[in-house]
Amino acid sequence: MTEPTPVRIRPEIAALPVYRQGRQAGAEAFKLSSNENPFDPLPSVVSALHDSMAVNRYPDAAATRLRERLAARHGVTADEVHIGAGSVSILAQLMLAVAAPGDEIVYAWRSFEAYPGLVIVAGATPVQVPLTADGRHDLPAMAAAVTDRTRAVVVCSPNNPTGPVVTQDEFDAFLDAVPADLLVILDEAYAEFVTAPGAVDGLRELGVVRPNVVALRTFSKAYGLAGLRVGYAVGHSRILDAARAAAIPLSVTAQAEVAALTSLDAEPELRERVRTIAARRDRIANGLREVGWNVPDAQGNFVWLPTGADTMAAADAFDAAGLIVRAFPGDGLRISIGEEESVDTVLRIAASVVRDLP
Ligand code: PMP
Repeated sequence: MTEPTPVRIRPEIAALPVYRQGRQAGAEAFKLSSNENPFDPLPSVVSALHDSMAVNRYPDAAATRLRERLAARHGVTADEVHIGAGSVSILAQLMLAVAAPGDEIVYAWRSFEAYPGLVIVAGATPVQVPLTADGRHDLPAMAAAVTDRTRAVVVCSPNNPTGPVVTQDEFDAFLDAVPADLLVILDEAYAEFVTAPGAVDGLRELGVVRPNVVALRTFSKAYGLAGLRVGYAVGHSRILDAARAAAIPLSVTAQAEVAALTSLDAEPELRERVRTIAARRDRIANGLREVGWNVPDAQGNFVWLPTGADTMAAADAFDAAGLIVRAFPGDGLRISIGEEESVDTVLRIAASVVRDLP
């Protein structure tokens, strides 16, 4: 049915675009549009999933084993860890927990596409602070954007889609500049790929030192479990209790928990993969700079190509060569670091695009 519904939808939701993924790739294409991990799942993960097929039972709502495991790993208590169906669901819970209509949530823009929608669903007002010209967070401007209606600030490091990190010094100065009762969410979905010295590490900021900071991490990227939906937060237990209260019960599956635990067992092997991806990223970023692209510091598993007004034409050129990349019309292309076999084509098409653009 395409007729209007008589049901009254909240007007801000009716106006909200549905979250869209990049195009799904056909068999002949490389999918470089969703910042996924190109390596096949580990055999140990596949086998653990195979052994955890009691799907007639509900999962442990508190994901106790995984919380305890992560708590031990990060030197915190299990109450200071919260598991979600992807870190994006924890982000939503935190926003719902702190914001009411009329409240503001500040974040940098351009950043992760999901932020504006999550803020609006929480009933709050998005306040977007432009990135600097080199794709970095402008933390002094973000601190200046905080008003007495601001309930949370989201800081994304490395920033999706541009790539640079926030430094520890910048972050500390930011925390000193904002009210101590302001929730600061540090979205570190790509933290494991960072090689730049001096980058912020949210897991060092923990609850006790900075009780208003919550760090978000995910198993989707470095751990290669995007399809299973599992991420976590580390922070003050009272803030995380509020997120737990705002959560949809039982949304983390038993299979997601088992796969995350098994991945933690295989950490050295996964870290090796991450090193491979980071090295490939540096090779691509440098190759792009050599042919004239002004690529911001790339610290995640992706690079940013500032294609501006020519973005859609550039995306078509990649598409025609079998590379599905993420286009942000009028702004740029984000290219995920994928299979080794995709690297030469990425560089070749990027070189031809820079030549062909006016
Ligand atoms: N934060 C950022 C910055 C991201 O780019 C993404 C995924 N694209 C997420 C959070 C969400 O990750 P998850 O799969 O854990 O929900």
